[in-house]
Amino acid sequence: MINSLRGFRDLLPPESDLFTRIETAAREVFRLYGYQELRIPTLEKKELFVKSTGDTTDIVEKEMYAFTDGGGREIANRPEGTPGVVRAYIENNLGQTGRNGKYFYIGSMFRAERPQAGRYREFTQIGAEHIGNASPYADAETITMLVRLLEKVGVEGCSVVLNSLGCAECRKAYRELLLNYLRLNNTALCEPCKGRIERNPLRALDCKIDGPALAEKAPKLSLCPACTEHFTRTQELLKISGVEHQVNTGLVRGLDYYTSTVFEVRSGALGSQDAVCGGGRYDDLVKSMGGPAAPAIGWAVGVDRVAMLLKDKPAADTAPKTFVIAAAKEAGEKAFALLTALRAAGISSDFSNFELSLKSQMRSSDKSGAAFALIIGEDELKAGACSIKPLKERGEQQTIPLPDAPSHIKQLLKGLSGNPPVSI
Ligand code: ATP
Ligand code: MG
Repeated sequence: MINSLRGFRDLLPPESDLFTRIETAAREVFRLYGYQELRIPTLEKKELFVKSTGDTTDIVEKEMYAFTDGGGREIANRPEGTPGVVRAYIENNLGQTGRNGKYFYIGSMFRAERPQAGRYREFTQIGAEHIGNASPYADAETITMLVRLLEKVGVEGCSVVLNSLGCAECRKAYRELLLNYLRLNNTALCEPCKGRIERNPLRALDCKIDGPALAEKAPKLSLCPACTEHFTRTQELLKISGVEHQVNTGLVRGLDYYTSTVFEVRSGALGSQDAVCGGGRYDDLVKSMGGPAAPAIGWAVGVDRVAMLLKDKPAADTAPKTFVIAAAKEAGEKAFALLTALRAAGISSDFSNFELSLKSQMRSSDKSGAAFALIIGEDELKAGACSIKPLKERGEQQTIPLPDAPSHIKQLLKGLSGNPPVSI
């Protein structure tokens, strides 16, 4: 027997259904906000991530599934979505379509991390990118959309944490200041940070080992007037759209391309893997990858972690509404035709095997969770009818002509008591 790879998992029902519901809700929110879907490849040239995400970042330096293919090309499974979206934007001249630059994607990402609860080697992200808009209205809109999406999905108790990393100018001055500090305090740093401070001193602030101490002691970034104005305005606009948030100057997202506004959504209910979403502005990335000057902002939600938060919530009822049974061998064809008619009328319906005994089919029918069993036996066959047996609630069994069955079932379903299924 061959097992799955460590950190790669099968998503089984009902969890797989939870994923679908989250993705469906996200699509609905994206439609409300004018976003269109981009389906980008899972494999890209490794170079794409090295140049955009950055070669000193954890996800590129340590976690990437990269390999050389048969033709000697260096290839990587995407560890995140933004580089691919930016590549697609440039390669397909999407900036010249006159559209609004708003794109979303849904798909698997791959990172060779230590697997644990909420951390897998293949996981699903829902991401949004808004390319070509420098205004704080774009920041406030995208963060509002993110919060509304999580609400619609049914996630509760999350907090939005916000910071600004400033523009290239703010960072240039800060880089020198921080580098001097890190050089002087080199002995206190972890080995990987020691090795990379000259290449990327800011990375130390995001280090899981050194970050917390540095957040307290290291010199702080001071924003230029334009960046201060942008950050203040973003927060004012978030107030207008009713999004609660906290500023945390210690929030430094670990990727190279971030500028200006960065944010995370966290949930206390997730334990140590508490980040549900990460995002921020990347005003210089499109240009640095060979595209037009196009300031941009985006985020990515971890669907696996959202699913963990929703596990105990009542799910939509996915049981079939009816279960069709052939109580006599000759009734099989009529039962099969009835099944077809029910489904054509939009009534979810199932059956087991018309060649098995009535008892066996009844047992499957009970297990299915269906509201009604529709039975065609010898008598029904003669009368061109079927018997309807309520399975969930008390009620009389009744026999009705076959052509009337779909509309009759619809009436019966309307009259069913109980809570309507939660739909998201
Ligand atoms: P973390 O600090 O937990 O490692 P991250 O900063 O690496 O998160 P991002 O690159 O911002 O994560 O990705 C966005 C979201 O994708 C995260 O907030 C998280 O919900 C999810 N995510 C990231 N890595 C994994 C993983 N290995 N397994 C499952 N979900 C993940
Ligand atoms: Mg990570």
